[in-house]
Formats: sequence, structure tokens, C-alpha cells
Amino acid sequence: MPTDHVRLFIPGPSEVRAELRQAQAKPMIGHRSAAFSDLFARIQKKLRQVFYTNSRVYVSTSSGTGVWDAASRNCIRPDKKVLHVINGSFSERWAYTSQANGKQVVAIDLEWGKAVRGEMIRETLQSGGFDAVAFVHNETSTGAMSPLEEIAEVVKEFPDVLLLVDAVSSAAGVKIEVDRLGIDVLVTSSQKCFALPPGLALAPVSDRALERAKVVPYRGYYFDFLALEESLLKNQTPTTPAISLMFALDQELDDMLAEGLDARFARHIELARLTQQWVRDNGFELFPEPEFSSYTVTTVRNTRGIDIAALNQYLKARGMQISNGYGKLKDKTFRIAHMGDVTRAEMEELLGCMTAYLEEKAPSAAAAK
Ligand SMILES: *Cc1c(COP(=O)(O)O)cnc(C)c1O
Repeated sequence: MPTDHVRLFIPGPSEVRAELRQAQAKPMIGHRSAAFSDLFARIQKKLRQVFYTNSRVYVSTSSGTGVWDAASRNCIRPDKKVLHVINGSFSERWAYTSQANGKQVVAIDLEWGKAVRGEMIRETLQSGGFDAVAFVHNETSTGAMSPLEEIAEVVKEFPDVLLLVDAVSSAAGVKIEVDRLGIDVLVTSSQKCFALPPGLALAPVSDRALERAKVVPYRGYYFDFLALEESLLKNQTPTTPAISLMFALDQELDDMLAEGLDARFARHIELARLTQQWVRDNGFELFPEPEFSSYTVTTVRNTRGIDIAALNQYLKARGMQISNGYGKLKDKTFRIAHMGDVTRAEMEELLGCMTAYLEEKAPSAAAAK
């Protein structure tokens, strides 16, 4: 059946279900209306469940990157430092964001594909003078998912250091208990595991982070935590938000809770295992260290040297799309996303189609098996 609809198996934007696309088409409401405050309050309550937090979750009309700026600007005093751990493209850009905001950045530079570990953070923090640690939980560029629990335990040894976590491509796909782990700012975007269109960032923020913001000058305007907080207490946002996206978010949160959060997280693990098995069965290797291979995106080392663009052409003709490697990893790796609302049947269809491509178009490489 010919179709224009190419289903996305790329690590953002994720495929958006028709119900969620349609939820955006509700009639517009004013952002200072009671109807909006009701919507905001409903969303807030459900977001706290998804993030396992009793404090607030800011809903920002921006992509996730906006909250990088927010975290950098609100959480680090001018005479203190922020530790950024860099293990791929997104963590590199977040470190740059802190620098661009005039912050003193200390970076630990890891080889791409490596996971962030608690011990390396402890060693650096021991030198003193840090206000925050920032790292990317799930490096979408390499497919490495770092052990959040281990890192959080280490950061708790340093009571004045805030924990800033980019979980853009893992939150709502992987269980992250914000309060228990002591995460001060978590950032995620609507278009990854929430499986919504792009345009919203969701950010649980702790009381500690708010207290810090009070003593940090030049927090800017759009992402000032204290301004966001003042509005949130009235179930509002400081400026006009992406209301249509919030309609879709309200629906998606209902659907997530109906699926059950634990079932949702288990589904992501199951689909990651299925994909990792396909990688091994077809003579490829995982790019990251296998024990840190992500639950939401599998980055495959192109050990068979296949033509990834041609594979994607083949898939597109069948209404599906995966991702080439990111930046310098293009053609050396490719990425299969299994995040959001994707089902086992859909994953099996994709992987079956990829197997068929290899058998038809890359038989010489099959000798590598
Ligand atoms: C996609 C992504 C980002 C960027 O998010 P935007 O919503 O595009 O700003 C940041 N970090 C990670 C890990 C990502 O996967």
C-alpha cells in the first residue's frame, strides 16, 4: 500500500500517534482563563507522577535546549564552577551553553560511547568550588546510557553541589525517580519519549535549585526560575505557552498512566533487548559499552560497512525511517530508536524489514555472519 506517512524510528522527533496529533486541534483557549489553569493543574499533577517528584515541573515553551540555558543561568554563582562531563555531542553542547552564559566550566572529556561514572565525578568535585554537576543521562549521539543512580549517590556526598541532568531522550521511557535521586534540575523535551510533537520542554526543579536561583545574578528573563515559579503557583506560565501542545500532553499523560508507568518502562527495556539481539544476529556490534547500551536508542557500529543511506531509502519505500550516525559517527554507526509509544509489533516489522534489506542488498557482507 503506497503511503506518504513515514513512521519515525529516529531518536527525535518520535512518531506521534494520530490521537495525539488530533488532540492539538481543540479550540483555542486564553492562557489567563480558568480553562487554562485547569489544564495546567491537571498536567502538573500527572507530570509529578511521571517524574516521581513532589515538587514542581516547569512546562517551558521551548525545545529542551532552552532548559540547558535555564539550568546554567539559575544554578551557578559567578564565583563558583560547574562540572560538565562530556561523552558525546549533546553533553559537549551543554558544556558550551554554560560557557556561553559566562559560567566557569570544568570539563571531564570522555571518549564518545563511554558512560559517565560516579568515581570520575567524585575525584573532580573533591577539588572544591563547585556549584553544580551537569551531565547527559542518555547520550543520544552515541547510545550510551550512564548509571544515574551511581552518579546521584556520589553527588549526594557534596551537599552544596546541585545535580543537573539532561534526560531529554530517556525521561518517560526509563524510570527516573527525581526526588529519591536528589536531582535538582531534570530536562526533557516533548518530542522524544513523550512521543509528542516538538515545542515543549518539561523540567522538574527542586526547592534547592530555587533557593540557589535567589542568590544567582543575571538569570535572564525567559527562563528565570523565580518568574516561572511565581506563575506556576497560579497554574499559569509567564508568557503565552504552546497551548495546543499542552492539550496533546494532557492526553498523552492520561495514556501513559493508563498503560502504567512500570509497564511503559518495561516495554522500553524489552524493545531495547529485541533490537540488541537483532544487532548480534546480523553481524553488527553495539557502539557503546554493551552494559551501558541505551533502553531508548540503539547505536550500532557499522561493522558490515553497509550503505546506510541506501538502507534508509529501502525502509522509506516501506513507510519507515531510522537514523544515520550523529556528526562524526555518520556512516560509521546508525541509530535505531525505540522510544515513546512504539509497540513490539512495530519494532518487529522494522527489524524484519532491515533483515530483508541485508539479505537482498548486502549478501556479500552477510559473509561476516
Ligand atoms: C534531542 C536532545 C537534545 C536537544 O533537545 P531539543 O529539544 O532539540 O532542544 C538534548 N539532549 C539530548 C540528550 C537529546 O537527545
